[in-house]
Amino acid sequence: TTAPEAPARRVLLAAPRGYCAGVDRAVIAVEKALEHYGAPVYVRKEIVHNKHVVETLADRGAIFVDETDEVPEGARVVFSAHGVSPAVKEAAAARNLDTIDATCPLVTKVHKEAVRFARDDFDILLIGHEGHEEVEGTAGEAPDHVQVVDSPDAVEDVVVRDPSKVVWISQTTLSVDETMETVRRLREKFPTLQDPPSDDICYATQNRQVAVKKLAPECDLVIVVGSANSSNSVRLVEVALGAGARTSYRVDRAAEIEDAWFDGVTTVGVTSGASVPEILVDDVLRQLAERGYADVQEVRTATEDLMFSLPRELRGTMPPRE
Ligand code: SF4
Repeated sequence: TTAPEAPARRVLLAAPRGYCAGVDRAVIAVEKALEHYGAPVYVRKEIVHNKHVVETLADRGAIFVDETDEVPEGARVVFSAHGVSPAVKEAAAARNLDTIDATCPLVTKVHKEAVRFARDDFDILLIGHEGHEEVEGTAGEAPDHVQVVDSPDAVEDVVVRDPSKVVWISQTTLSVDETMETVRRLREKFPTLQDPPSDDICYATQNRQVAVKKLAPECDLVIVVGSANSSNSVRLVEVALGAGARTSYRVDRAAEIEDAWFDGVTTVGVTSGASVPEILVDDVLRQLAERGYADVQEVRTATEDLMFSLPRELRGTMPPRE
């Protein structure tokens, strides 16, 4: 008799994964600014929340700062994909900075909602993570009207001026399911709670979550490539676990993968956050192949072809990307 064959090891590769249109545009904006104006180009905050991207651009002459007061008077500064509050724009204008705004248009859309609902004097409940740059930027559009609701449990503590005039909006990179739970509890508390005019959680966040949900139930291990401060990447680990993956870990790069994760593992799921270049996923796949997981099957749940035009300040200064 022969021993039963071990089940075949395989990788399920989520699609869509990786770069979204807003990240692609923001990274190209810094590259184009460097090409066109030469180094240094200042960037307020990480242009996108990915270590590799930030290090690569820093090598090419981008200087990342926390605030505009670290940028020399009159110099050029790029605002990151996560958006900035009007106060930041004013501070930059006061220092005579030449600004390039790489805020993702889908974040700008949420800013506009905040402005409009504040004008109509609503209490605005911004579902999102306290301290995240995007949340600071959006809340900064209407500081007197916005309060941040961090989780379903935080709903208990929400106090508004007029319970009949309340609207919710959200950060673009949240877990869809958890956000719906927060909204459900808010609506219990404020039955006339108004919805935003359209989804604030962006298409890229939603698509990456749908894809990982599809493959997770078949996976013993799901590896999410993305940085620790990348909201949508961290959410992908939670979504994978919630959808039935036995274990799931986030790594910035392939070198962080640990031997101990592979005990009894037959199927490995792989995905990446919206700020992650594909080269980092390729490295992970190569490492998995070395461990005997060379059979890669793509699990695709959507096709994306959205592209945004460059920030206004960069249009016309150079030929379009081929
Ligand atoms: Fe824009 Fe969504 Fe990408 Fe954020 S994750 S940059 S909101 S497309």
